[in-house]
Amino acid sequence: MEIAKDTVVSMHYTLTDDAGKVLDSSDGREPLNYLHGAGNIIPGLEGALVGKKEGDSLKVTVPPAEGYGEVNEELIQKVDRSAFQGVEKVEVGMAFEAKNPDGSAYAITIREINGDQITIDANHALAGVTLHFDVSVEGVREATAEELSHGHVHG
Ligand code: ZN
Repeated sequence: MEIAKDTVVSMHYTLTDDAGKVLDSSDGREPLNYLHGAGNIIPGLEGALVGKKEGDSLKVTVPPAEGYGEVNEELIQKVDRSAFQGVEKVEVGMAFEAKNPDGSAYAITIREINGDQITIDANHALAGVTLHFDVSVEGVREATAEELSHGHVHG
């Protein structure tokens, strides 16, 4: 069966950056299962998987625009250290969870500390990064009616 809208795909993957550094991998874990056509994985990877079958392997290069987006400079802000009142230690690279008005969570990372001025970045950690996926398709099946109505994979 070929990967198409409303199929459930099981795959192993390794994600590297331009320098070949491994950013994420399903190596040593269960394969990743996702519902195809429901926006559950990044568009650049989902598009490349259309028509593939169990046993297929592929390498996919995904530009930032089809991955986690370009870096948005407006999401990089300087704030005063007082914004971190109650936080014992503030260090470059630390990430904090913040909430959108709709309740969904996003991460803010500390990029720079200059005296009392702290530069925070709410971009996705992989914004602006070209993604290199090495994928092997482990299985493809029809989604169940329940999975389709929920928009994600079960079990
Ligand atoms: Zn569900």
